Amino acid sequence: MSVTQQQVLDALAGVASPRGVALTRADVLSPIAATDGKVFFSINVDAAEARAWESVRAQAEAAVRAIPGVTAAMIALTAERKAGSGSPPPHRHAHAPGVAPVASHKPPQSPASPMAKQAEIPGISAVIAVASGKGGVGKSTTALNLALGLRDLGLRVGLLDADIYGPSVPRLTGIREKPQLNDDRKMIPIRRFGLAIMSIGFLVEEDTAMIWRGPMVMSAITQMLRDVEWGTLDILVVDMPPGTGDAQLTLAQNVPLKGAVIISTPQDLSLIDARRGLAMFRKVNVPVLGIVENMSYFQCPHCGTKSDIFGHGGARHEAEKLGVPFLGEIPLHMSIRVTSDSGTPVVDSEPDGVYAAIYRAIGEKVRDQLQGAIAAA
Ligand code: ADP
Repeated sequence: MSVTQQQVLDALAGVASPRGVALTRADVLSPIAATDGKVFFSINVDAAEARAWESVRAQAEAAVRAIPGVTAAMIALTAERKAGSGSPPPHRHAHAPGVAPVASHKPPQSPASPMAKQAEIPGISAVIAVASGKGGVGKSTTALNLALGLRDLGLRVGLLDADIYGPSVPRLTGIREKPQLNDDRKMIPIRRFGLAIMSIGFLVEEDTAMIWRGPMVMSAITQMLRDVEWGTLDILVVDMPPGTGDAQLTLAQNVPLKGAVIISTPQDLSLIDARRGLAMFRKVNVPVLGIVENMSYFQCPHCGTKSDIFGHGGARHEAEKLGVPFLGEIPLHMSIRVTSDSGTPVVDSEPDGVYAAIYRAIGEKVRDQLQGAIAAA
């Protein structure tokens, strides 16, 4: 049975807010996503008021769950940072039905520490981020093929598409089904190509994801990390949203990352962006595992001739200068584009080809740096 946004709004109109008006009139609701009985939205309030709103969030969740046909409700209470406050909001709780609040997973730490929000995810040895300074550089394509390269090395691997502004993992993997809930009401990732895969794109329409605001991004990602039955994984690869803004910084701060891989094209501009990415991870003490140069050179699909149309080698040089490992270069090639865009990633569909070998070699360099974390588990 499908649930409409209007039904959700009607249910929320019966919930009172601390502002003396109904929740729907308090000007705090994000856009409501309602797809296949799954409802997602956030209540955005001032950080100072967050405590007073916690019970409203719980009542809103109860009201939504009571709507016939609702199978899951993800309602987050988010607090935006005030300009110039210098620290992330103290309350950023996200809850799914029947699941303990995210805050309860966290070990007691000084709230001043940038790592205060971090806690390991049981069963996962290493969470790594794949990031880029801007969109369109092939970050998602690389994240998926890197995950498959790591799989080929015999590791148990998951892929979390945290690119909430434009999730591309449904397209890159061809996954169309929705995740089911287990008995604990945790989402079960979709298994494809031997990977455990989760994307916000499995839950909401692409244009709905695009309009979500920063704080909602964080709480949705937190839930996809913690309220998903990942099982036992050696490595969870997180495809980050592009850019190095506040949303990415918060994410890097909140997710217990063992390292980050930065994807760049050879053009100067994206190298500048890559440098920003590097600075961002360094700021939150996440080790940069290295830089990958994507669309490094053009390889003619007919004659195999290589041409350095973007000034190939910039990322290697930049990595040396910055003192971070250079992980490898991936050519611009039709078969990478075609396989990506048809949901048959090249490492899986052409396992004996040169591109699969390149991604596996990058995977080896990543794995070698994570050996400690994987072995410890
Ligand atoms: P991002 O995640 O950085 O926005 P995508 O991974 O979605 O980028 O890639 C953008 C486009 O570029 C897609 O059409 C993808 O198929 C293509 N692409 C990515 N890497 C390569 C490559 N090495 N060669 C050819 N096409 C590529």
